[in-house]
Amino acid sequence: MKTIDLRSDTVTKPTPAMRQAMASAPVGDDVYGEDPTVNRLEEMSANLLGKEAGLFLPSGTMGNLAAILTHCGRGDEIILGDMAHTFLFEVGGIAALGGIHPHTIPNQSDGTLRLDDIKNAIRAENDHYPPTRLVTLENTHNRCGGAPLSVEYTHQVGDLAQSEGLKLHLDGARLFNAAVALDVEPAALAGPVDSVTFCLSKGLGAPVGSVLCGSGDFIKRARRTRKMLGGGMRQAGIIAAAGIVALETILPRLGEDHTRAQLLAQRLAEIPRLQLEPGTPATNMVYCTLSDDDPLNAPQVAEKLRQYGVLVSATAQRRFRLVLHYWVEDSHIEKVAQAFQNVLGSR
Ligand SMILES: *Cc1c(COP(=O)(O)O)cnc(C)c1O
Repeated sequence: MKTIDLRSDTVTKPTPAMRQAMASAPVGDDVYGEDPTVNRLEEMSANLLGKEAGLFLPSGTMGNLAAILTHCGRGDEIILGDMAHTFLFEVGGIAALGGIHPHTIPNQSDGTLRLDDIKNAIRAENDHYPPTRLVTLENTHNRCGGAPLSVEYTHQVGDLAQSEGLKLHLDGARLFNAAVALDVEPAALAGPVDSVTFCLSKGLGAPVGSVLCGSGDFIKRARRTRKMLGGGMRQAGIIAAAGIVALETILPRLGEDHTRAQLLAQRLAEIPRLQLEPGTPATNMVYCTLSDDDPLNAPQVAEKLRQYGVLVSATAQRRFRLVLHYWVEDSHIEKVAQAFQNVLGSR
């Protein structure tokens, strides 16, 4: 039985074109700045996001960490959402490795932070307080249903940060999904921010890597931070090559994942014991829940679905996340719906 894996878009394996490009990529020592394939990926990325420079990193986690460590010193404070990936799922690296104090404020269900909440979180000048340095946003917002943040909203936060003398970082792990969903240029979403990371290894389907983009001066400093974190890679063109293929061949088809997410949501809506979350799917993720009195919890349902060759994430006791990606085909949607019906029954 062929498994349909909807746990995440990180499960995507490289395409044949990626493997070919990896095998034949021209390479050099990237710590010397001499890997032509890495240099090309960094330049392509910066151009796509309208920034001066890019930096290739092993992961999105290291990308966010390197960015935040470059913006902040020990004892500085950053403002971020309480559902932010950086707060929840990056092992507390900014505190453990950077001595940076996270000041969380509530994420709204659409992934935004209220402007008033940001304003109120900014510290006044006072010997008792850590100095606020940075605000971070996440687009699309993973825990908030994969919701895209608009260009207008990003500008509002950018303007606020600038007027308060703060920097703005964007965790754009799935920024291209946001651009597709909103039908805007990725550079428009990155325009108001000082630094932005995106992941090649999620819906873009590359095996490894993220890119951090920003001003030339910022990236020069972030390159040193990356080296400090042990992220200076040598003939990294071998993996950057797959990233280039991802930008050239997978980026233009990301919208298909959103369409399939809609189809899947429609089918799941027919299952009485499942409730779709409001607004889902905003991009390539379908979030749905079981009611509190359901005899099964989400991990138990996920375990039963596995027997039908369908893998989904139970992100809480009653909550599922299903993520669409390159390797999910139209015919899989019906199979997933059927598996849910087998486990939960239909009307
Ligand atoms: C996956 C993800 C990251 C981190 O990426 P890794 O490559 O897994 O370290 C950061 N932010 C968001 C929103 C993500 O979904």
